[in-house]
Amino acid sequence: MTTNTAARVVVIGGGLAGLSAAAYAARAGRRVTVLEKASELGGRAATHEKKGFSLNIGPHALYRGGEAERVLGELGVQTKGAPPPTSNGAYALHGGILRALPTGPVSLLTSSVLPLVGKIEVARLLAGLDALDLASLAETSFEAFLTKRVRTPEARDVIRALIRVSTYCSDLERLSAEAAISQFQLGTTRGVLYLHDGWQTMVNGLADVARAAGAEILAGAKAVSVVREDGRVKAVRLADGAEIPADAVIIAASPSLASSLLPDVPALAAWSAAAIPVTAACLDVALSRLPQPRNTFALGIDRPLYFSVHSASARLAPEGGAMIHVARYGALEDSRAVERELEEVLELLQPGAKHLVVERRFLPSITVTHDFPQAARGGTRGRPGPAVPGAPGVFVAGDWVGHAGMLADASFASGRAAAQAATRREVNVLGDVGRKSFDARA
Ligand SMILES: Cc1cc2nc3c(=O)[nH]c(=O)nc-3n(C[C@H](O)[C@H](O)[C@H](O)COP(=O)(O)OP(=O)(O)OC[C@H]3O[C@@H](n4cnc5c(N)ncnc54)[C@H](O)[C@@H]3O)c2cc1C
Repeated sequence: MTTNTAARVVVIGGGLAGLSAAAYAARAGRRVTVLEKASELGGRAATHEKKGFSLNIGPHALYRGGEAERVLGELGVQTKGAPPPTSNGAYALHGGILRALPTGPVSLLTSSVLPLVGKIEVARLLAGLDALDLASLAETSFEAFLTKRVRTPEARDVIRALIRVSTYCSDLERLSAEAAISQFQLGTTRGVLYLHDGWQTMVNGLADVARAAGAEILAGAKAVSVVREDGRVKAVRLADGAEIPADAVIIAASPSLASSLLPDVPALAAWSAAAIPVTAACLDVALSRLPQPRNTFALGIDRPLYFSVHSASARLAPEGGAMIHVARYGALEDSRAVERELEEVLELLQPGAKHLVVERRFLPSITVTHDFPQAARGGTRGRPGPAVPGAPGVFVAGDWVGHAGMLADASFASGRAAAQAATRREVNVLGDVGRKSFDARA
C-alpha cells in the first residue's frame, strides 16, 4: 500500500503558486491536499465570466520565455493567446494628449514625446542593455541607474513608463535595476501574450494536472494555523476546527498569512515585515462595441497610467464587443479621484465608451505582487524561501518568494521549487535528516 505511506503535503492557497506546487508534489508521489479559502480557484489569476466577456482581475499578460511558460510546459498545460494589439502603434499619454509611444527605432524617431537629445539618449540606453553586467546592478535601484545614464527629463519619463509596464512596479527608487532590466528584456525579446478566455485557463489546466496526479483540492477551506508538535509539522487547522494531517506544508499565499499561521516562527515575521506590496488601481470595462478600433494601447508618460484593449488580440469578448483594462500603477488614498482619472483615460482613447458599458469593475487598490526585488535586499536573490528557517517541513511559494522571475513567473517558479524542496528524497519533512525517508517508493 505505497499510497498510504506516502508523505502528506498540504498546500495552502489555490492560486498559480499553490496549484503548481500541488501538481509537482502529486506527480512526485505525495498525498496532496490543496486548501483554498475562496469558493473558486485562481486567486489573482481568476477570470470572471460576465455576459460573454472574460474579465481578468486587471490587465494580465503572460511573459513568453519566462518561468510560467517553463512550468506550464513541464506540466503539459496548454496556453493560447495573442500578442498585445500594438501593431497599429501605441500611444504615449502625456499632458493629457496622445502622441506616438517610442517603443522601437521608427516610433522613437517620429514621436513628439521626446526632444532630439532625449531620443538619442533613449536609443543609446536601449541599445546598450544587452552589454550590461546585470548581476552587478542587483543592489542598485533602477532610479539610481537611470539618473546616472540619462540626463533628459523627458527621456527618463519614457524609460520609467517602459519599466513600469514591464514590472508593474512604480517604486523605482527601491526596485533593483538588475530585476527591472531583466524583466524589460524578457518582455522585449519574446514579448507577452494576452490569453484567450483569460488566465483562468491556466488555473484550470494546473488544477486538472494536479487532480490527475491524485491531488485533492478543497475549495471553501480556510487555513487558520499550522499545527506543530516538537517542531514537526503535524496538521493544518481549518476555520471550522477540522484538522488535515500533514507531514509538510506549502504556504502559497501572502507573507502576512504565512506569519499568522505560524506566529512563533521569527523568519516568517521578518519576511512579512520586509515585504513591500506592489499595488494598482484597475478599471476593467466590457463594451458592446469599440468606438475607436485603432486606439488600442496607451501608456502614461507623466503619470503612471495604462490602457489596453485586450480583446483586440485575445478572445475575451463576444463578437463586436470589447474588453478593456485601464490601470494606474500604485494605488492612491483618494480612490474616487483615481476612478475619475481612469474614466477620463477611457474616454480619451474611446470617446463615448461610457454609453456602451456592459460590465464594469473598479478595483481601487489591488495587490499585484506581495513584494518586489528590492535593491536594498540584493534584488531577486534577496527574496526568501522556499524553505523556512526554524520551521522544518514548512515551505512558502508565491510572487514574493525565491530567486527566479517577477510577477506570476515568481509564483510558478517558487511553486515548483517549494514542491521539489518538500518532496526531495532525503528531505527531512519531519526536521530530522536521514531518520526516516518519506519517499513512498523508497
Ligand atoms: C491587477 C493585476 C495585474 C497583474 N498582471 C500581471 C501580468 O500582467 N503578468 C504577470 O505575470 N502577473 C501579473 N499579475 C500578478 C499575478 O496575477 C500574481 O503574481 C499571481 O496570480 C499570484 O499567484 P499566487 O498563487 O502566488 O497568489 P494568489 O493568486 O494570491 O493565490 C493565493 C491563494 O491563497 C488563498 N488563500 C489566502 N489565504 C488563505 C487561507 N487562510 N486558507 C486557504 N487559502 C487561502 C487565496 O484565496 C488565493 O486564492 C497581476 C496581478 C494583478 C492583481
